[in-house]
Formats: sequence, structure tokens, C-alpha cells
Amino acid sequence: MQRDHSLQQIKDTLQWDFIIIGGGATGLGCALDAGSRGLKTLLLEKYDFAKGTSSRSTKLVHGGVRYLEQGNIRLVREALFERGRLLKNAPHVCHTLAFVVPSYKWWQKWYYAFGLWWYEFLSGKLSLGKTQLLSKNEALQNLPDMAAEKLSGGVMYFDGQFDDSRLTVNLAQTATEQGATLLNYVGVTGFIKEDGIIKGVKATDGISGTTFEIFGKIVINATGVFADEVLQMAEGNKEQTISPSQGVHLVVDKHFFRGDVALMIPKTEDGRVLFAIPWHDKLLLGTTDTPVENITTEPKPLKDEIDFIIHHFNLYASTKIGYSDVLSVYVGLRPLAKTGTEKKTAVMPRDHHIVVLPSGLIHVTGGKWTTYRSMAEHAVDKAIASAGLKKQACKTQHMQLHGWIESNVESNVESYLSIYGSDAALIKKQIESEVSLAEKIHPKYPYTKAEVIWMVQHEMAITVEDILARRIRLLFLDAKAAMEAAPIVAAIMATELKKEAAWEKQQTEDFQKLAAGYLIYDL
Ligand SMILES: Cc1cc2nc3c(=O)[nH]c(=O)nc-3n(C[C@H](O)[C@H](O)[C@H](O)COP(=O)(O)OP(=O)(O)OC[C@H]3O[C@@H](n4cnc5c(N)ncnc54)[C@H](O)[C@@H]3O)c2cc1C
Repeated sequence: MQRDHSLQQIKDTLQWDFIIIGGGATGLGCALDAGSRGLKTLLLEKYDFAKGTSSRSTKLVHGGVRYLEQGNIRLVREALFERGRLLKNAPHVCHTLAFVVPSYKWWQKWYYAFGLWWYEFLSGKLSLGKTQLLSKNEALQNLPDMAAEKLSGGVMYFDGQFDDSRLTVNLAQTATEQGATLLNYVGVTGFIKEDGIIKGVKATDGISGTTFEIFGKIVINATGVFADEVLQMAEGNKEQTISPSQGVHLVVDKHFFRGDVALMIPKTEDGRVLFAIPWHDKLLLGTTDTPVENITTEPKPLKDEIDFIIHHFNLYASTKIGYSDVLSVYVGLRPLAKTGTEKKTAVMPRDHHIVVLPSGLIHVTGGKWTTYRSMAEHAVDKAIASAGLKKQACKTQHMQLHGWIESNVESNVESYLSIYGSDAALIKKQIESEVSLAEKIHPKYPYTKAEVIWMVQHEMAITVEDILARRIRLLFLDAKAAMEAAPIVAAIMATELKKEAAWEKQQTEDFQKLAAGYLIYDL
């Protein structure tokens, strides 16, 4: 993945088969699908890959127990199948995780177990493990810091967990390997039309300021919560198709809730589920579901949402947490498809919608990270039919993603490097060839200078934020530490990208300003 090479491709290509707008899960899924079908594919992302919602999820590859309760069996079944495929195709970034649902009355565990057996049954051969009833002692053995008072037992079930923005990087790499051309920091600013039909896009390189007119047979709008903005550019449409809802997550130290198992709180006071999940050696708590009007790239948490998460976690934990224990707060916007007159976003369907608009634009909304692949398959099928291109079968169902490594192969790299999959050995080789690259970017964390260089050279990282937010997840794990690591990351990048001291200083300042928004005192 080389940005200069992709820029040259734009200049050299007269007409693309597919132009995809948006480099989140949906857009990258489409780029991989179209590229692997042999279609000449270009993807343009205004900021960095996964800058939007796709780096801000709860990190679950799941069917969604909650959707089962809502009776959306079709969505749950599709998601469970996709869960199974993803765990096979990208075992270095996705793995099985056990969840405990605690019960406080004797009948509760049977009630939950019944639903969860059904959930497991729907996954068929792709089941990740047997749902089990737990006694009080067994529940506490798995989660020793759970409040024991009145606990009667629980149910253990299995789902998937992943690193969302690392998977995005791997999707981008795989799409490139399959022949697609991808660019971050190039935003679409308008459309080229003939007789009302889209023939291409106008785009601007956010790094150099260069503008482009790019021609394509079909354009896909995969811009998540920003889809209506693009829709307006394409159709002059004022109608909203998205009902955004924000979800807040808090990250705290793992010692507050030890164990390798996640807690699933089945019913919060507003009738939702809430998770406490081990993630990269920290504990991830969330999420909320608050309808919002304002769509921004850096949504802010509301104090009520933070209080809500802390309050519910404390009900289930023997050691209570407060504001000062929160290492990072991050917020994502759900691109929920607007349906009918439903106002409560928590009960809005998570299904995806793919529409061909009068201008020929393929408009994709809704969906979940877990179902990105099937959503892309449907979108590309529809786009091929709409553009009258030669029909070809989708190839992504069993396609191994970049970094794939056999999960039972004993990796001889430090465990945290295993997230890079097969690339881990190459990073380690770099370290062996120059020992100074083993130096850490922060004394409290294992991340090395070698990774930063790797990300600039192979993962299209352009800014300090690209490194510390989405390739190494330090901003999401510990915002203060990320701010402390910023100057050293900026210095390594400046050398690698041949930038001046002023660039280095500006990058550090920009990142620290952004990271302050992930600290709780910035409310
Ligand atoms: C709080 C929360 C928790 C979630 N948890 C889970 C979970 O655990 N599991 C799960 O399966 N799903 C989860 N989801 C859902 C999942 O994260 C989303 O469905 C998915 O990430 C949406 O991806 P996307 O590509 O459609 O949107 P995005 O990731 O937002 O990508 C859209 C991209 O388009 C770009 N863009 C915008 N305008 C332009 C333009 N003019 N030109 C070029 N690019 C542009 C943006 O910069 C952005 O990067 C969660 C969602 C939220 C909000």
C-alpha cells in the first residue's frame, strides 16, 4: 500500500469500473469485493481509513443477542455466519471470547440460557462454543471481581472479538493485493454528471491540495453517517436517510475486573445490554445509544452517558470506579438507516439498505461491522447489475485477509505483536537488524519505534493520529500515554517521511489537542 503509487494510478487511469467513497468497513469491504472480482476499483477516503465509526465500535464480531430478543432472526443468522467466516479469514485480529451473563434469581439463568442456546443453534457449524449454565462459584471463578451479593449464578456463551481499525488496515492491504487502488486523505467534493447521470467524481487531496476529476462506470456511497452529505451532492436531496445515534465507551485498567472473560449486563435501566470486555489488556465498558443531530468526525460524550456506564458497571463490580479511573473515552456514531417514524434509535433495525438512486449512485446505509462482507457482496452485485457490467461471482467468503496466519501455529513473536499476523515476523526482523528500533514509544507500553516505521512504510500512515489512534490503539487505551508518546512518534515519522521540524511540531500539537477530547476532564 503506497500512497504515491495510488496517486499515480489516478493520473494514469482514464476510467474506473468502480469508484467507492468512504474508507470504513463498508467501503473497504466493497473495494475488496470489487477488486477481487477483477473490476478496476478506486476507493477514496477523506481522512484516514476507519477515521469514522469503524474504529469506534464495541469490538464485537457478533450476531447480536439483543437483536434476537427483538425478533430479527434473519439479521442474527446472517451476522452469526459472517462472524464464523471472519474468525476463519482473519484469526490474527479476531478471536473467540467467552461472556458471562450473571443471574440474580433462580429462573433468570434458565431464561437467558434458553435465548443463548437458540443463539448458538442459529450459528450452526460456525458455533464458537457450547453455552453453559454456571453456578455462583463458577461465575465468580470466571469473573472474580463481580459483586457476589445476591448473585445466584449465570450463563456462559461465546462470541467474537476483534480490533476494528487493525482489521480495516488489513482489509485495505488485501484489497490492494487484489488489484484495487486505495487512497486516504482524498475527499470527494462533487460529481461529474451527463444528462443527470453520474460519470465520475471530483476529489481533493487533503495533503497536497491537488484536485482531480476521476471517471468511473459506477459510484458507491459508503460514507456511513456522512452518507446524506454525499447524497445531497449527488442528488440535491434534502431528505435524511440516516438517523445517527451515538455510543460512548470507557476504557479502564484491567485490575478493576480481572479475568479473560467478558461480562454481559443483559438489561440496563434503559432496556439495553452493556458490556465489560477485556481488550488489549484493558477493560472496555459500553455502550450507550443516544440519538444525536450533529454529525462530526470527533463526536463528544455526554456527561449523562459517562455516568450511566459508570453507574451500571459499579452495580456489578466489587471494586467501584469513578471518573479518575477512566483512561480513555471514545464515541462512535451509528449510521442507522432511517425507517418510518421510529424515534428510539435503540430499537431501530441494524440491517443494511442498498439503493440505486436516479443519478446512478449506489447508496449503502446501515449494517454492522460484523456483516461488512455480506453487505459489500450485496452492494457490488447491485452495482454490477446497475452498470450493466459482466456478472461475476463474489470471491470473499473464504478469502484470507492480509496477515492471516494459522491460529494453531506457535508464533515465536511477543504476544502483543501477534495482532500483525504474518507481518509480525517481518517487524521482528526489522528490530533484529537495528536494535534501536526495539526502543519503546512509551515506557508503560510495549509498542516500539519499529512498528511506527512499519506503519509509515506499509500501512499508509500519514499523521501521528493515524499511528496512535488506529494502527497502534494507544489513544483508545490510554489517552494521556498517547499524548506523551506523540512527540517521539512525530520525530520518527518526520525522519521517515522527510518532513521539516515545523511539521513535527504541528503534528504533535494537533494530536495532543485531539487526544485531550478522549480524557474525561475535557467534558
Ligand atoms: C458505538 C458503536 C458500537 C458499535 N459496535 C459494534 C460491534 O461491536 N460490532 C459490530 O459488528 N458493529 C458495531 N457497530 C457498528 C459498526 O461500527 C458500523 O456499522 C460500521 O463501522 C460502519 O462502517 P461504515 O464504513 O459504514 O462507516 P464509517 O466507518 O463511518 O466510514 C465512512 C467513511 O467515509 C468517509 N467519508 C465521509 N465523507 C467522505 C467524502 N466526501 N469523501 C471520502 N470519504 C468520505 C469518512 O471519513 C469515514 O471514514 C457499532 C457502532 C457504534 C456507533
